[in-house]
Amino acid sequence: MLTVFGSTALDTIRTPKKTLKNVLGGAATFAAISASNFVKTGLIAVVGSDFPKKHQRILAKRLDLQGLTVKQGKTFRYDGSYDKTLSVRETLKTELNVLADFKPTVPIEYKKSQFVYLANNDPDQNFTLISEFDKLKFSMCDTIEFWISTKRESVIKMIKAVDAIVINDEEAKLLTKEFNLIKCAKKMMEWGAKYVIIKKGEHGSLMFFDDVIFPSAGFSLEDVVDPTGAGDSFAGAMIGYLASKKSTSLSEIKKAVVYGNVLGSFAVEKYGLDGLLNLKKSDIIKRVELYEKMIRF
Ligand code: AMP
Repeated sequence: MLTVFGSTALDTIRTPKKTLKNVLGGAATFAAISASNFVKTGLIAVVGSDFPKKHQRILAKRLDLQGLTVKQGKTFRYDGSYDKTLSVRETLKTELNVLADFKPTVPIEYKKSQFVYLANNDPDQNFTLISEFDKLKFSMCDTIEFWISTKRESVIKMIKAVDAIVINDEEAKLLTKEFNLIKCAKKMMEWGAKYVIIKKGEHGSLMFFDDVIFPSAGFSLEDVVDPTGAGDSFAGAMIGYLASKKSTSLSEIKKAVVYGNVLGSFAVEKYGLDGLLNLKKSDIIKRVELYEKMIRF
């Protein structure tokens, strides 16, 4: 089983064509739902008493929710706005609310998880949580500008504690204070990450391990409507695939990156979580085959 910890949110997403208010979002939500296409996934997260029942039903249909806490107060809220290219996002508001002083507990069943994903979340909470898993085979984390700006040292400490970090290009530069992505990756490896995966939005990703660099293309799409959660879907698919194979061999990690690109592409085709919610296994298989055809030469 895979455990995912991180934010579950009510998102306000402003795109040039449409604004979504208080929709179900959060880094852990996207990652866990993406991962659930590959493996049984448990979610550790906190929501407030205002969290709509219909959102909870969506989560319950796909995920194990023993780790979900409902706390008196307001759910974590994120408000972000995209420019007309849909590749630049400005964060308008981050309201931590019940997430601010959350002390997560790990359900007994989850403690056996060999694969754990620390989605974008308070790095101190992530660091504390990871020590609770004693059968750990592979752990991975993500972060975002908000945490790099407010808790950079904690982000570095979190990176030391996991096997892999998946991070987008701009955030990698901000965090490492380097401008070249290879230099960024080397710095994160010096801090202790064995694998570094740098996401480059529509342009795919770079995976680093020892002296190996594995570049992968994004799945080319003509119609993108909402990039929110693409990175989380990428990471969820990656670790979900690895957990399903119970493997961390380099060749499986490369395949996991391909699944990451493919699930990320489904996420951006529809608004909010819709790109992931109606996905069938056959859709994923077909797109992976098409991806393979696109990049083979
Ligand atoms: P992505 O588009 O992959 O960067 O992920 C966006 C998701 O991350 C949204 O659904 C937000 O709710 C969530 N998010 C944004 N900022 C934060 C933050 N500071 N901590 C945790 N989650 C966040």
